[in-house]
This record gives sequence, C-alpha cells and structure tokens, in this order.
Amino acid sequence: MPATKRPLRPKHVPLRTCIACRTTEAKRGLVRVVRTPEGRVELDPTGKHNGRGAYVHEARACWEAALKRDRLGHALKVAIPAEDMDRLRTHAAGLPAAPADEGQKERGGTDDHQR
Ligand SMILES: [Zn+2]
Repeated sequence: MPATKRPLRPKHVPLRTCIACRTTEAKRGLVRVVRTPEGRVELDPTGKHNGRGAYVHEARACWEAALKRDRLGHALKVAIPAEDMDRLRTHAAGLPAAPADEGQKERGGTDDHQR
C-alpha cells in the first residue's frame, strides 16, 4: 500500500497575506517578520529564518496598522518585546506611506478622465 500522500503543492507563485490590510499577493512587496525561538520578533528580509512568520507590506500604512492593533503580535502569537517593537517602528518610519504599486496603477474600475 503506498502510504505516500502527495502534499498538495500549487505550482503557481505562493501568495502571502499582509496581516494589516489582508491583501493577498506574491511575496513581492511584502516583508516577512519572524518570531525567533527566543521569542524575539525580527524582520526577515531573506524569508529563510526558522520560526513563525507573518507578512506585512513594505509600507508605513500597513506597518502602523499591524503594530497599532497589535495584529503582528497576534499573528505571531507572541508579546512583542518593547525593544523589537521600537526597531519595527523605526523600520516602518523609513518606508513609503503606501505599498509600492509596481506598474499596476490601473486597478479597480474607476474611470478618471481629466483633460
Ligand atoms: Zn498591507
């Protein structure tokens, strides 16, 4: 009896959800935050660290939402140490206000003709 159950692996690009705005997209534009085994919360730009991870857009608006409502802490199931919180806030402060919109300016159905 073949007991090998093939894990369902979608072939398309894996999608991640920003914990702040709940937008789903390919990893591009999102940064991984990881809870280390020591209970620290760190940015994980490489996405390779072990531990529970969450994704947030590289945008101030999303970071503020993620930190303000402690969504990040909830997502990672950890109380974010003040020191790490400071670091994340500093990171957020250096980001553009809104998610980078790479060549996708035309989304949604608004027609805004102006001459
Ligand atoms: Zn977002």
